[in-house]
Amino acid sequence: IVQFKDVHKSFGDVDVLKGINLDIRPAEKIALIGPSGSGKTTIIRMLMTLEEPTSGQIIVEGDNLWQMEKGGKLVRANEKHLRSVRGEIGMVFQHFNLFPHMTILENCMTAPIHVQKENKASARKRSIEMLEKVGLGDKLDNYPSQLSGGQKQRVAMARALVMRPKIMLFDEVTSALDPELVGEVLEVIRDIAYEGEMAMVLVTHEMDFALDVADRVIFLDEGVIAEDGKPEDVLQHSNNERLQSFLHRFR
Ligand code: ATP
Repeated sequence: IVQFKDVHKSFGDVDVLKGINLDIRPAEKIALIGPSGSGKTTIIRMLMTLEEPTSGQIIVEGDNLWQMEKGGKLVRANEKHLRSVRGEIGMVFQHFNLFPHMTILENCMTAPIHVQKENKASARKRSIEMLEKVGLGDKLDNYPSQLSGGQKQRVAMARALVMRPKIMLFDEVTSALDPELVGEVLEVIRDIAYEGEMAMVLVTHEMDFALDVADRVIFLDEGVIAEDGKPEDVLQHSNNERLQSFLHRFR
């Protein structure tokens, strides 16, 4: 559903991504790993349509994200085109980004109502179902400040899922959490992954979790994909020295 073709990205004279080729298939679960500064967040921001490649193409469901056809020729993509693609992509960040002045139920309902123009009753019903699914059915009327970090992160997941995205992006969603809260958040991601139909890209430092949940692990190193394969092959049987020394830090 998403393809990167020879994607480069520079910020000023810093080359952050140096020719990324990547094909994300429907329902595929990808763990993206790599050292700090290797470009993981930049890839996620590109999947999120927030960042334009310096060169190369990003194709989402057959459409070139930054260019579109108009009157038979290619022109720059417009906001409407980008917005319609954005609607298919859900995202959960390291810092939960919940609306502090809304209850958790309102946090979940607002995008279906205002972005997808869903009627209020149905958005409310689906949001409640989703919050029950992440184990927060008894907190609907609480405000984010009344929740633990793990609970906030589960609200952020419910809020993304209620939009029924085709692809979900998770950018280090457990790294801001106290260690004892990590498990409950990973548990919810695991449940979502096992349900199956959505593609998922997870930037994570939880290697055991990647081994368990991902279909594929990509090791990004200095802006290039250095390894890409089955979790056991990449995480347990690779001879790549830089990957070995990276993994060593988590043992
Ligand atoms: P981390 O694990 O530390 O989050 P990362 O692999 O996600 O790292 P990126 O956040 O993608 O790495 O950043 C890659 C490089 O690009 C870094 O050197 C960063 O300083 C640089 N960079 C990212 N965004 C910008 C920007 N908007 N302007 C300038 N440089 C940027």
